[in-house]
Amino acid sequence: MKKGTAVHWFRQDLRLEDNPALSEASKHCKLLPIYIFDDFHPEKNIMGSASKWWLHQSLNSLKSSLKGNLSFYHGNPIKILEQLVNSFEITSVYWNRCYEPWSINRDAKIKKTLREQGIYTESHNASLLWEPWTIKKHDNTPYKVFTPFYRKGCLGSSPPRKPIPKPTQNQIINDVKTSISIDQLGLMPSVRWDRTIQAHWEVGEEGAKKRFQTFINKGLGNYREGRNRPDKPFVSRLSPHIHYGEISPNQLWYSIRSLGNNSNIDHFCSELGWREFSYSQLYHYPDLPDKNLQNKFDSFPWVQDHNLLQAWQKGETGVPMVDAGMRELWQTGFMHNRVRMITGSYLVKNLRLDWRHGENWFWDTLLDADLASNSASWQWVAGCGADAAPYFRIFNPVTQGQKFDPSGTYVRKYIPEIKELPNKYLHQPWEAPASILETAGVTLGKHYPYPVVDLKSSREAALQAFQSLKTKLN
Ligand code: FAD
Repeated sequence: MKKGTAVHWFRQDLRLEDNPALSEASKHCKLLPIYIFDDFHPEKNIMGSASKWWLHQSLNSLKSSLKGNLSFYHGNPIKILEQLVNSFEITSVYWNRCYEPWSINRDAKIKKTLREQGIYTESHNASLLWEPWTIKKHDNTPYKVFTPFYRKGCLGSSPPRKPIPKPTQNQIINDVKTSISIDQLGLMPSVRWDRTIQAHWEVGEEGAKKRFQTFINKGLGNYREGRNRPDKPFVSRLSPHIHYGEISPNQLWYSIRSLGNNSNIDHFCSELGWREFSYSQLYHYPDLPDKNLQNKFDSFPWVQDHNLLQAWQKGETGVPMVDAGMRELWQTGFMHNRVRMITGSYLVKNLRLDWRHGENWFWDTLLDADLASNSASWQWVAGCGADAAPYFRIFNPVTQGQKFDPSGTYVRKYIPEIKELPNKYLHQPWEAPASILETAGVTLGKHYPYPVVDLKSSREAALQAFQSLKTKLN
């Protein structure tokens, strides 16, 4: 047992199992577990509304796992930590690393300040399989293409850390004097839009484990092919749990690997690899959330049109596969990956709106909003990122719908007003003859919008805009 009282500062590691910093802090005689809602450091750390909602639920769940012993604070972490150090005679402060550029800077300053005051600090990796600075090419530069990053870089380096058990309970203390209540963190929305969302999730470490087990039972066996089908339950929907660290990628990696060796398992692990790749990009290119990675896109002629943006956000573009995705997002706080690509491509290429509008909307509405994955994925969709889909490859939302939602289950679920349309026209109601629309009870422009842009001509306009960019550069 180590002497003195240690703080474990929870951040994006809201779990007790496989929590390396918590395990180390728990070796001290006394442990003070805390959470600080830091909206002091401005930059890109203002959480979206959906994220705040998840965080509130997750902290509640963690607090009950700690039998009420979790103290909450709101404000500038260094000030709060300094006060705690004095009030509780803290000797050591532990945390697991976060990788947002603002977080890295903040933590470095905190570490320096505390160490100058004689306080021991220790940080651990609890949210990535490989530290971003360890995966580099032979010439010591970061990988820009996913396959070599994952196959050579990640799989070719030492295996990820093995998960560790929950620490044994020592004396856990609570700050009854200065801790505020969870409600005072102000995370819950004042207008209760969250009730529909609540029904879809069990937030917290136990909920994450249950969801993982459901995925193993029902999704994993079909994952490789089935992961493209938004109408089927073949993906894990673990992303918000992973983002808040209710379950670690190490737990997922080793549990899945222990089930055998097949293409579904490999594919799931490689998706965790995409997450690592996103973090690597954010680490090496801290401007990723704001600036095109390929700067030739800096002069791209984006369209400015608030009405088009609103139609996209509300799921009223008149293109069913796009609208179903945007409504899934609004109603559940989640959107299936295939549909994120379809709605993203439509925003950037058919509407030609700047990808940062999409990134911001997702940031506010996704429960799994994650600076690394969101920015890297939007840059991928827009064609301006690392290993990105080329700009000229434009998803056709009609054929995508027909291929990945062939019986229309997904579209009918989120756009009930067109559910009576036969499959042939469900993904393109504007092509339906008047008699079919009438039988289905659909009047375009009244029950469901006409397409806000023509898919064919908007596609051509996008290609032309891209061409003009190339010409300008030549
Ligand atoms: P599964 O298919 O079950 O995969 C398991 C886990 O692997 C996921 O939970 C996730 O952690 C990781 N993963 C899977 N695919 C990707 C990917 N392409 N990139 C990075 N990690 C991946 N993911 C986020 O977690 N947060 C975001 O803010 C986010 N924004 C996105 C924005 C756009 C435009 C696009 C195209 C993708 C975005 N993604 C984001 C990636 C991906 O869509 C989600 O991780 C995935 O849909 C989550 O669903 P799941 O848990 O069922 O995934």
